Amino acid sequence: MKFNTKLIHGGISEDKETGAVSIPIYRSSTFHQHKLGAEPKWEYARTGNPTRQALETLIADIENGRSGFAFASGPAAIHAVFSLFSAGDHIIIGNDVYGGTFRLANKVLKRFGLEFTAVDTRDLDAVEGAIQKNTKAIYFETPTNPLLKITDIKAITDLAKKHDLKTIVDNTFATPYNQNPLDLGVDIVVHSATKYLGGHSDVVAGLAVTNNQQIAKDLAFLQNSIGSILGPDDSWLLMRGIKTLGIRMRVHHENAQSIFKYLTENNKVAKVYYPGNPNSTGYEIAKKQMRGFGAMISFELQPGLNAKKFVESLQLIDLAESLGGIESLIEVPAIMTHAAIPRDIRLKSGITDELIRLSVGVEDEADLLDDLKQAFAQI
Ligand SMILES: *Cc1c(COP(=O)(O)O)cnc(C)c1O
Repeated sequence: MKFNTKLIHGGISEDKETGAVSIPIYRSSTFHQHKLGAEPKWEYARTGNPTRQALETLIADIENGRSGFAFASGPAAIHAVFSLFSAGDHIIIGNDVYGGTFRLANKVLKRFGLEFTAVDTRDLDAVEGAIQKNTKAIYFETPTNPLLKITDIKAITDLAKKHDLKTIVDNTFATPYNQNPLDLGVDIVVHSATKYLGGHSDVVAGLAVTNNQQIAKDLAFLQNSIGSILGPDDSWLLMRGIKTLGIRMRVHHENAQSIFKYLTENNKVAKVYYPGNPNSTGYEIAKKQMRGFGAMISFELQPGLNAKKFVESLQLIDLAESLGGIESLIEVPAIMTHAAIPRDIRLKSGITDELIRLSVGVEDEADLLDDLKQAFAQI
């Protein structure tokens, strides 16, 4: 089955009981047991729920994994994955990961004895140099947020295997439509399914996928023990979103390409960050490991131009956090998503006060361009 067909017919594509083509929402918290102690397939809904399982099978299918796990949010999934490790273990983490992941690692898990070193994972020497005796895993994102930096996934998994380390990739920005890290040797993929997978800005969810049987067993244990599962209603909504990932991504890509071109040719724009930018350092790696460049674009206005006035002048493109929805969303990381990072550290990593991040939606391209043009005319 090819990818777009898998989105629709992959996983568990019909309800065994009734033939319903849309898997029903099973709200039951418990299941009748016909024989005492017979270990029935369904017993209690934290441990397993048929609607959630349909979603978990689907995400495993589209990430080319064996086992999928659905959680109440991105950080809930990431927390369960980090819980595979124990006090005293050391994890190398990308220095540009999602702020909430950084917070979970440094403000929560460190208190439980996990150790983290933040490294620019594009720099293989730096990654290798950070490996200690107690290092167990490398965790990173590619492309990153908001500067869309690209890490060579295969190069990292080769290095990790040499040192017997596990690798974990947050694949939220690329989506399985563009990139399948498990195929490149990664052990676990995590997602904020709130973004492109859900696709409609109407559900918060997290997913984890692996093709390693032992990790799958351990994650099932942790999902049940920690208990931060995704409920059946949200599982259903997410499956419904995933079915149209392919057709959405095609339009996301088309629109992103033309907005990228428009921004590069605009003399009010100083810099454009986009994995599909042929002049960017990550371009060749992106071309090698991604089937498409995604639809996240960050750009910097020329010095002195007012980023606040620009984003507030937009009429169609929503000024809002989050990304990956059908509607175009724009934000200023320095003031919104990345405000928690101290200014000097932020500037050092390239997130200037003028930087703007755009999640290109699936509206008509002409309307998006018109909106950008009128906002540029005001600054
Ligand atoms: C949004 C996001 C998360 C957090 O997940 P939620 O959906 O907000 O719970 C984690 N990683 C990345 C890359 C994200 O963009």
